[in-house]
Amino acid sequence: MQIAIASGKGGTGKTTVAVNLALALSTSHEVTLADCDVEEPNCHLFFSGHPDEEIVTNPVPEIDTDACTLCGTCGSFCRYGALIVLTDRVLQYPQLCHSCGGCEIVCPTGAISMRPEKAGVVHISKPKPSLSLISGTLEEGSIHTTTVIKAVRRHLLRENLVLLDAPPGSSCAAMETLKDCDFCLMVTEPTPFGLHDLTLIHEVTEIFNIPTAVVINRSDEKNNDVDMYCTAHNLPVLMRIPFDRTIALMQGSGEIISGQDPVWRERFVRLGLQCLALTGAR
Ligand code: SF4
Ligand code: SF4
Repeated sequence: MQIAIASGKGGTGKTTVAVNLALALSTSHEVTLADCDVEEPNCHLFFSGHPDEEIVTNPVPEIDTDACTLCGTCGSFCRYGALIVLTDRVLQYPQLCHSCGGCEIVCPTGAISMRPEKAGVVHISKPKPSLSLISGTLEEGSIHTTTVIKAVRRHLLRENLVLLDAPPGSSCAAMETLKDCDFCLMVTEPTPFGLHDLTLIHEVTEIFNIPTAVVINRSDEKNNDVDMYCTAHNLPVLMRIPFDRTIALMQGSGEIISGQDPVWRERFVRLGLQCLALTGAR
């Protein structure tokens, strides 16, 4: 069972919901929390421990300058601008390479071979006996978000209850995270921006035909545009988190409110069970 916690933009409280849900549900289930927000992974900030580390790589071309005749074929072939053939050398931009391997095939002299280039890291830890944390981090300057997310996904077991902290927005990275999920919990705010971003992520879930529900963070009961959208689209609002200074301070100091406050623990347990019920599982 895979449940994505997603939002249309960063800063809506998506990670807050993910870590609280993971901790609350780990009292009754074997839970894996997968941080797929690889450009800005934050879940690990809430848990202590010494994770194992796995380096994630992508193959990129390496050119044997003795064998290269500067014929230009690889530069013409590469549609991503990762190889530019000059009169005296080949310029390489590995950060632009999409690892298709085509340049190695078209090179007439066999001057190109593929070497591994670091795209990111996956950290694997077990903060509790019933809670695993798999966290992906993109290498600075790399564009290979989906490579790192796929590496995170390779550690996930279908039989476990998996919560995925999805990248914000509706990018390829968000798609890669959402595409195999059974359910998506969309986190938003009751503002015009929050509504706009909710519609974006809702469209993605509709493409993948994933059942969804909504959590409204910083709920102030003043603006009900998000509620009206949810009603119009038959989206259940499963939780409202009020704007609360105590909650904000706890979050800021790396504490998980469901681990500290039994009332919130119960609320997040109920939220998790509602999500499972909406997928048909328990
Ligand atoms: S295709 Fe091969 S020989 Fe031609 S410029 Fe590229 S590396 Fe050099
Ligand atoms: S592997 Fe593909 S994307 Fe990368 S440099 Fe070669 S042709 Fe371009």
